[in-house]
Amino acid sequence: MARVLVSGASVAGPTLAFWLRHHGFEVTVVEKAGAVRGGGYPIDIRGTAVEVVDRMGLLPRVAAKHIDTRRLTFVDIDGREVGTIRPEEVTGGVEGRDLELPRGDLTDVLYDAVRDRVDFRFGDSIAALTEHGTGVDVVFRGGDRATFDLVIGADGLHSGTRRLAFGPEADHLRHLGYCFAGFTMPNHLGLAHGGITWNTPGKAGVLYAAGASDRLHAFLTFSSPEPPAGAHRDPAAQRDLVAAEFAGHGWEIPRMVAAMRAADDLYFDVVSQIHLPAWSTGRVALVGDAAHAPSFLSGQGSSIALVGAYVLAGELATHADHTEAFAAYERGLRGFVERNQALATGGAPTLIPRTAEELRLRDAALADPSLLPGRTSREVTTALALADYA
Ligand SMILES: Cc1cc2nc3c(=O)[nH]c(=O)nc-3n(C[C@H](O)[C@H](O)[C@H](O)COP(=O)(O)OP(=O)(O)OC[C@H]3O[C@@H](n4cnc5c(N)ncnc54)[C@H](O)[C@@H]3O)c2cc1C
Repeated sequence: MARVLVSGASVAGPTLAFWLRHHGFEVTVVEKAGAVRGGGYPIDIRGTAVEVVDRMGLLPRVAAKHIDTRRLTFVDIDGREVGTIRPEEVTGGVEGRDLELPRGDLTDVLYDAVRDRVDFRFGDSIAALTEHGTGVDVVFRGGDRATFDLVIGADGLHSGTRRLAFGPEADHLRHLGYCFAGFTMPNHLGLAHGGITWNTPGKAGVLYAAGASDRLHAFLTFSSPEPPAGAHRDPAAQRDLVAAEFAGHGWEIPRMVAAMRAADDLYFDVVSQIHLPAWSTGRVALVGDAAHAPSFLSGQGSSIALVGAYVLAGELATHADHTEAFAAYERGLRGFVERNQALATGGAPTLIPRTAEELRLRDAALADPSLLPGRTSREVTTALALADYA
């Protein structure tokens, strides 16, 4: 029985572990955090990805966590309402089928489905990989050593596996021209099942209520043609940068900036995608954001992570040779992934128009939802027919 090491236990990692176990592989998952992370911002499961969750037998449990977002309101620089739409008019989601839930609720369900059948090593990560003719020797940061037949990086946008096996992140990360800060704050507006987006050209402030929670997810996003120097690893500099970008604005922005400064769950990053010429090298392959992060502007990161994990496990099960399996995985998935990545980059983003003209066009589209990207999104998210690997 082939032994596979998976790095990362969020969406792609446990899904891959589930399907590899299903096909008879022996699986170890190494996760640098001390446990599967709960809570978090809402993510979508749409189109083909719903079918993956269904085939795992997890649809009822995931559907029970659906937060049922009903409306998205957009306001102008002074906080005046410009329009209100249903989320499906942007995302292409199908009411009653597609799902939205906190990321941690999804990872809890996925982890529960495999925890008894897979060896999880929390609080550890891969320090070194050495490939030879019959396997990959792995040194863990905790000091242990082991040999696996295959190693799969499911460790996200800033994947350590990718860095070790494919080279520096800068070679593969495509900056989309924005930075964002995400954090939670009290739901002082009493919002439920929806969100409000404030815009001025190149800036967006979003307050989002996942269901009827007493906390809001808040996002401050701003255009930044180049990645900000130095702010990447310094939380104080990140807070200063975001505060400076939003200084002097009205509506809820001052309250959001104050909450961002006080937040203990601030997540700051550049909005970026991962593009690699190949998703495998030798006995190491990548899945999910590590291989092809599409950015949150696509709304499809979790969905293509679920689909990719299913396809990768299936191809490994149906090819005796891992090189052929990895090639088939990429052949089957790359077109779908690239179309999903293009949701974030094709045309002006609905969430954060960059210029006054893009903002004017977006506002006009709110009044005529046939101009919004819902139909395109629907086509793209359902574009892959899943193979049946048994
Ligand atoms: C603010 C925000 C909003 C988003 N909104 C949406 C949305 O609406 N819809 C959607 O589909 N997607 C959304 N996404 C994207 C989505 O979260 C990701 O695409 C998805 O989680 C990818 O799953 P993954 O398992 O590939 O990677 P991740 O979820 O990033 O998980 C990687 C895992 O690997 C672990 N790890 C990292 N480094 C190492 C290491 N060196 N060794 C071991 N473990 C490691 C991490 O702790 C983590 O558990 C959003 C993302 C953000 C940041």
